[in-house]
Amino acid sequence: MLTVRNLHVRYGRSVAALHGIDLDVPDDGVLAVLGSNGAGKSTLLRTISGTLRLHRGTVSGGEVRYGERRIDRLDPAAIVGLGVVGVPEGRQIFARMSVDENLRAGGIGARSAEDRARARERVHELFPVLAERARQRAGLLSGGEQQMLAIGRALMAGPKLLLLDEPSLGLAPKIVERIAGIIREIHQQGTAVVLVEQNAVMALQVADQAVVLETGTVALAGSAAELSASEEVQRLYLGGH
Ligand code: ATP
Repeated sequence: MLTVRNLHVRYGRSVAALHGIDLDVPDDGVLAVLGSNGAGKSTLLRTISGTLRLHRGTVSGGEVRYGERRIDRLDPAAIVGLGVVGVPEGRQIFARMSVDENLRAGGIGARSAEDRARARERVHELFPVLAERARQRAGLLSGGEQQMLAIGRALMAGPKLLLLDEPSLGLAPKIVERIAGIIREIHQQGTAVVLVEQNAVMALQVADQAVVLETGTVALAGSAAELSASEEVQRLYLGGH
């Protein structure tokens, strides 16, 4: 279980990005994090993954726990070691390396060669295109395939909790549907997910729980069904009136 309690995050002295966030993600849960630009979604993921400091941000109050462990002061590699693995904003695949080299990079922390091989097999089953294109330069993949590679690379680390930052960004609706199906499958295989999305329709289809962030606080929280039915969510994020 991931628990975030009364989390406050700042960038420098002047920007308070998160003020008093509370949320839980059970080990079998998918939490959608919705909200408009600048609401604090990426900041929340950076805090959970330990990469906040790379962006010159600091936790100024509250805590993040994974299970019993407090993780808000750990570095990113230690957090990956606990099974919490992120797919960063903008995918950030290694464009000059081959598809397979990208996957191998994700599996560097694996305990054994067998674990690595099993993880690669799982990734190839989920994304057959990554097996077909194993030797191709990653930069030559389409946007959707690059997103699949970014998710595949994260799966190579054997996550128990996967953090996804806007996986649908810039992708055609059909590809978004495929990515949504894959996230569901990853979840069914036993991995919890935090899904940050501007695409509320997709996120609420995939998630069981959801929160809406507004200027660094949780404005709404509930089951995905409750939020889908909420007038405010309809009006702001689902194109309703
Ligand atoms: P987007 O979808 O645009 O990424 P977001 O909901 O992910 O939006 P964040 O990127 O977390 O929002 O930004 C939250 C607030 O923190 C915003 O006011 C933003 O300008 C500010 N912010 C984000 N990163 C930094 C940074 N590295 N330095 C200073 N301020 C930042």
